[in-house]
Amino acid sequence: MKPALPSIWLGDFESKSEFDQVFQNSLNTSKIFDWIDDQLLVSRHPFSYPAFCTVCENTTKIKINWMYGGWSNLTKSIHPAWTETGVCEKCGLNSRMRALIDFLKNYIQIDTDLKVYIAEEITPFFKKLKVLFPKIIGSEYIGRNIESGKIVFSGRGLKRIRHEDLTNLSFNSETFDLMITLDVFEHIPDYSKAFRESFRILSPKGYLIFTIPFFLTVKKL
Ligand SMILES: [Zn+2]
Repeated sequence: MKPALPSIWLGDFESKSEFDQVFQNSLNTSKIFDWIDDQLLVSRHPFSYPAFCTVCENTTKIKINWMYGGWSNLTKSIHPAWTETGVCEKCGLNSRMRALIDFLKNYIQIDTDLKVYIAEEITPFFKKLKVLFPKIIGSEYIGRNIESGKIVFSGRGLKRIRHEDLTNLSFNSETFDLMITLDVFEHIPDYSKAFRESFRILSPKGYLIFTIPFFLTVKKL
């Protein structure tokens, strides 16, 4: 069964001014959504609802909890952290991860031969991407004073984990067709260097897809 509508709406903007325009237009709608959140979620308890997951393509339940939940800085509404929750009961991916898979399916020609690098390795999301891209390489940031590219054995089962520092990657230039980071750049003090390194390891037609959290502010007129 294919969904009648996309599971997650992703905005498509070419510039900041285009984003600002859509954002201004959607402010009233956002207030309505916030009001509905406040009415429905008054108990602040975890809950689940039936839905179709476009990643595992199952009719499933989406589980909502209040971890990282908080105030909307626009309306003072209280709501769950929608990007971090909304976990599919069957595949275990949250809204942010499902949105990224949706994005890949719609915007990137998924080819199992693509050389992909992702800045995570011990997550359910990495396992899911490994099915789509068998040649994918993942890594974690283990700590300072470890050379990028080094394999570290860590955790209970002495898991094999590759260490990479995004500001000093071990890969040769123009190695990858696609690089993905989810909520990573905001943790890197010298993020400009990390962007330069990402550019270096991508092939000339390669893509960098990254997510970062951000807060919206509204100018008072
Ligand atoms: Zn799923």
